[in-house]
Amino acid sequence: MIVIEESLCKGCGLCIKNCPTGAVTLHDRVARLSTHCTGCGICMRVCPCGAIRRDDVIPAGAAVCRSCPVQCAVQPGFEGACRRYTNVNGTLVRNRALVPASYRAGRLYPEIPDRPLITAVGAGTEYPCCRPAPHIVADIVRDIEVITVVTEAPLSYSGIKVKIDTNVHIGAEGARVFRDGAVVGMVDTEEYGAKMLSIGGANILSGKHGFTAARTIVGLANGERMVLQVEKGSTLDIAVGQPPVIDGVMQKKMRVGCGSATIGMFAAQLSKVVDEAIVLDHHVIGLLSEHRAGEEVGMTYSGVIPNGRKSTRGRYFGDQGHGWGGTDIVGPLQAVKKVDMSMARPGLRILVTETTGQQAGLLEVQPDGTVMEIPMTATIQAVVDLIAANCEEARVSAVYVGGTGGSARAGVTTYPLKLSQAVHEGEVKLTIGGAPTYILPGGGINFMVDVEKVVPGAFTWVATPATVAPVEYTMTRATFEKIGGHTNAIKPVATVKKEG
Ligand code: SF4
Ligand code: SF4
Repeated sequence: MIVIEESLCKGCGLCIKNCPTGAVTLHDRVARLSTHCTGCGICMRVCPCGAIRRDDVIPAGAAVCRSCPVQCAVQPGFEGACRRYTNVNGTLVRNRALVPASYRAGRLYPEIPDRPLITAVGAGTEYPCCRPAPHIVADIVRDIEVITVVTEAPLSYSGIKVKIDTNVHIGAEGARVFRDGAVVGMVDTEEYGAKMLSIGGANILSGKHGFTAARTIVGLANGERMVLQVEKGSTLDIAVGQPPVIDGVMQKKMRVGCGSATIGMFAAQLSKVVDEAIVLDHHVIGLLSEHRAGEEVGMTYSGVIPNGRKSTRGRYFGDQGHGWGGTDIVGPLQAVKKVDMSMARPGLRILVTETTGQQAGLLEVQPDGTVMEIPMTATIQAVVDLIAANCEEARVSAVYVGGTGGSARAGVTTYPLKLSQAVHEGEVKLTIGGAPTYILPGGGINFMVDVEKVVPGAFTWVATPATVAPVEYTMTRATFEKIGGHTNAIKPVATVKKEG
């Protein structure tokens, strides 16, 4: 549990501000713990005076929660640090009952086909938008008249989110991204096992380098290869659907999970071949014997201390860099900070591996507590290979993000708001170049589409500058009439297909 060294406490109150359960209070400018502290350790991590430490004593009557690595010791009648679980007579009970059905299942419209009757690719644009869209076509589908309205809409609110599967640190989040010296976007927050770029957007498109940005969005969306430079970071040679080349090195594997997750997945196999494993990852470094998964497979803590800041049991935060697993650790020897020889023994073998299993090394603890690299054995390499075999191929993928909530709606209806509402209700299906979209909640018609599902080469751009996306709205004739659609412009789909 948590212990506060009162002599070290300066009464700053940071622990009180950060404690999620209100278990610390201030008395005479000294922090004091109440009995319902869960031992989550947040106060310990925020205390600037080092006045808070942890011992391994679990208070009598507390139930230890195993639902996350924090492992709160929850006292009877109290909640864990996340406020999700309560100790009810010694049993941890979820504070919220299971919800078997989704909150809003949404209305289903099975009569509307998943695909448009025709795509908008090649349809052109009617400008100004007060005229009906280039094509409004009708056909009978499963005995119901269905309408598709198509237009190639210039979207000045548009961009592309690029996902690059790699552990390599490409640059700081928020860093600008350049193409041919022009700013076209920025590094976005990282996603699981991937770095993200956000290219374009209204402000960049309307700025000094708008044309370059528009060309970049369209090029990436159409699968072209291009070179981008991250400010104070890497050179990215990328094409959607292809492995990324970062600073001249082709990336091969996407990590199987962070270091902790890798330990969780492979603890059983690792524990059979080594005494300890350090799995290096720029997010969380995993330490096998101390991790809960190591304990589950019968291991006890080895005394090895990895290089990193401790988060929770067997989980450490590393620093980002160009070393193994995207950390700043450049080889197996640097992965070990020290070995506590009161627990460890000479000859103890430590596997150090990346989460992709692409680089791995074997260490042996020496009598003086130092570590020495030794040759990898075939048995241990087989487990590393198993980790590697469970990693997906690294690739670049992208979603085009746009908003069709503007004037382009007038090509469909005389009541633009009704179109937006019908799209959100699911009565009108929005597709982009024939591909399904995800509609963002809230106002407007903001959508995302996987560019690899769109008809190839479908995106273009105009010099306003804006990118141009093929937009299709599909609905029943009854809905089309209800939202005030331009019924006088409907043509049989067969006629339009014949005219080309
Ligand atoms: S360990 Fe967690 S619950 Fe206990 S006092 Fe610190 S922050 Fe609060
Ligand atoms: S799930 Fe909640 S209660 Fe359980 S250990 Fe994690 S933070 Fe604590």
